[in-house]
Amino acid sequence: MTDYILEANDLTKSFGGFVAVNGVNLRIKRGSIHAIIGPNGAGKTTMFNLLTKFITPTSGKIMFNGKDITNWKASEIATKGIVRSFQISAVFPHLTALENVRLSLQTRLGVSYHFWRSKALLSELDAEAVARLDQVGLKEYAHLRAVELPYGRKRALEIATTLGLEPELMLLDEPTQGMGTEDVGAVTGLIGRVREGRTIVMVEHNLGVVAELADTITVLARGEVLAEGPYEEVSRNPLVMEAYMGV
Ligand code: ADP
Repeated sequence: MTDYILEANDLTKSFGGFVAVNGVNLRIKRGSIHAIIGPNGAGKTTMFNLLTKFITPTSGKIMFNGKDITNWKASEIATKGIVRSFQISAVFPHLTALENVRLSLQTRLGVSYHFWRSKALLSELDAEAVARLDQVGLKEYAHLRAVELPYGRKRALEIATTLGLEPELMLLDEPTQGMGTEDVGAVTGLIGRVREGRTIVMVEHNLGVVAELADTITVLARGEVLAEGPYEEVSRNPLVMEAYMGV
């Protein structure tokens, strides 16, 4: 097994004549939290979409656990241990928190939830769904519909549904976007708790969250890697300061 769960080699994505991601090399260490940051237009979303196979690279290669997944479909990688959570909340709004998590468990196990299923199976699914909700502090919200949850709790539910798929690699797109200080703290704590046994890649604007959680940070600017390393290092890098502040 390689030390790196995910590797991007010389990854490039052009839209027409515009190069949004330009020859990026990225190595994600197994068990780490790796943040991708950078000013607006740096290519973060494009990079994220490439890594999750939502878009196809113009050139370059993506390796997952040493296997070339460049030509895999998004639906294929989801079943192989890479799960992406979305910037826009991806839970089913009219299902309860419990039903949402149960659905992700059913997806993982490939089972339907019908009355003709054995009682044992159904109660097993329910018990695991409740445990997952508990893990993210949502146990008392189990029977509320997702649409009724406060925003921060909705993101927690989204993380619970992602965890239900038992991903080896979890990709989080702006997990604290649009949140107030309290929710940011709650989601940061939550990510810190669920990192055990998995690798997390996240695009995140909030540098406080990045400083607290990320082991390694890749700074993108104009589609290229500007700097990489731990927070203390990249935050002092004059090139990074310049890219952020325009000074
Ligand atoms: P970030 O997420 O860092 O803000 P993006 O990856 O969204 O940056 O965008 C990087 C650049 O690529 C931007 O200049 C953006 O306008 C351009 N871009 C992104 N997606 C497309 C697309 N589908 N077609 C054309 N240009 C795009």
